[in-house]
Amino acid sequence: MIANIAYVKSVLGDLRAKKKFGQNFLIDANIVDKIAEKACDPRYTTIEIGPGLGALTEMLLKYSKSVDAYEIDKDMYELLLQGIQDERLQVFLTDFLDADLSVYEEPLCVCANLPYYVTTPILFKLFESDLDLKKITVMVQKEVADRLNAGIGSEDYSALSVEVQYLYDVKLEMNVSRKVFYPSPNVDSAVISFTPKRQRDRAFEQDFFQLVKNCFRMRRKTLHNNLKDLYDEATIKRIYEECGLKENVRAQELSLEDFLRICEVVKR
Ligand code: SAM
Repeated sequence: MIANIAYVKSVLGDLRAKKKFGQNFLIDANIVDKIAEKACDPRYTTIEIGPGLGALTEMLLKYSKSVDAYEIDKDMYELLLQGIQDERLQVFLTDFLDADLSVYEEPLCVCANLPYYVTTPILFKLFESDLDLKKITVMVQKEVADRLNAGIGSEDYSALSVEVQYLYDVKLEMNVSRKVFYPSPNVDSAVISFTPKRQRDRAFEQDFFQLVKNCFRMRRKTLHNNLKDLYDEATIKRIYEECGLKENVRAQELSLEDFLRICEVVKR
């Protein structure tokens, strides 16, 4: 079992976990098994980002058809290949942000214990890709999970939360103590999953996401103020009337349905 402290320490030897790559290794096999079981589907390949020494990889192989893992660090890449011999595993030594995902045509799952320094760009790359993703399951810092899962009115509610709620059913799968990592980070983590809830329509999404971003442009300003450089007064008046919005409303008070209605009015 790779997810245990004795194995991790012995395999690392003189190497140290590299902060610049956000390296914190999972050392609790029960938790890793639970995450993998939730994340995978035996019919599909799972993409893993940042396999490290392979604690999660090993369990992903147990529940998936095969695993494609993308690792940026050559030391980890070599240790992983020594640690797991399974012909269903492909490991790519590359920064996931540079990975060419157009090679995939089949349905996939994604699972990762994400390096904290690059969590948001990796999630955006996945959300905006053309991949047929059946489920994305990621371990992130607790505060990032809260931000992604934020509801109307909360301080964390943002354009990103609206986009995510438009595309996915978001579920907090479990909270994870900092004690299950080596080295132990300063914050707790959470596992969060995203399951697509609609057919993708890229052309619509582009316009819709741009509108949502515009509405949130300056959080402290009213919706009217954020819209007035983009639309004429007549259009803004129609938005307010047809969507039944109060005069001083701000973007953070609007639901996904409100944004969709505004988009409909603007496009008409
Ligand atoms: N999956 C392992 C585990 O759970 O024990 C390691 C997780 S550790 C939090 C993050 C891993 O991502 C490290 O192995 C790190 O080298 C790798 N990594 C960091 N940035 C990356 C990137 N841009 N692309 C691919 N891998 C990356």
